[in-house]
Amino acid sequence: MPSWDIHRLILLQALQDVCREFILDSLGREFLDGLYRGIVEPDKKPDKVVRYRFKGRGRVSVRVGYAKHHTVDKTLVSYYYHLALYYARKENRMLSGLALGRAIHYAQDSSVKTKKYLVIDIHEEVEEELEDLAKNLGEDIQELCRDIELDEKPSKGIEALCISYEQTIEILKNFFTELRESIDVEEMLKRIWIARILKTITALALAATPLLLNIYGALFFTIPIAIGVALYRPRIYYEAMKAGIMVLKPYSYETVY
Ligand SMILES: [Zn+2]
Repeated sequence: MPSWDIHRLILLQALQDVCREFILDSLGREFLDGLYRGIVEPDKKPDKVVRYRFKGRGRVSVRVGYAKHHTVDKTLVSYYYHLALYYARKENRMLSGLALGRAIHYAQDSSVKTKKYLVIDIHEEVEEELEDLAKNLGEDIQELCRDIELDEKPSKGIEALCISYEQTIEILKNFFTELRESIDVEEMLKRIWIARILKTITALALAATPLLLNIYGALFFTIPIAIGVALYRPRIYYEAMKAGIMVLKPYSYETVY
């Protein structure tokens, strides 16, 4: 994983760039403290992955392990991004910054990907290059990346640095843009209520219909679908999280916050 210095350096420069567009005075010290803590924290306080395995006869085994940062899917980036907005709306600036920092950490880590088809792991090589680059960075990253063609899986440190930087900028910009938008909480609560009712009716209908019709065998199909419906999270739930109404923990992770 990129060293903490690199995580911080990319964040610092990205913040400076974003500041040109957004007035960040309102964020205050607390938010920035949280952000700088969060950018390195996943290496100290890692989130855990939960794996479910179906073993037949309805038995499920659950295993919990540490999340490998470089292979982390977008779930954690997205979860912490939503959580950052949740806390911002709750006016808890420290936790908002902390969550956003964690989202950015995972996004930055994932830009230093290992090419699976190579026998030799290029990962370390890229990281060493990154370290050298950061040490000798005479100009700012934006300047450096201007003429670089970005590959999806960078094989060079410089490309990893530029992708990391781009992703950091994107997350920061999205965050500040969404934070500016006004939200109609009443309207949102109404839509959540409707979604809940629809989900409940559908799940109950799926479970009850085979019983009412005496086709018990059909339960074998309808019960898993009913569970799926119950677990399903419509878009409005995620909007609600960003509005500070509810927190949706990802099913496949045991998160720190
Ligand atoms: Zn990491």
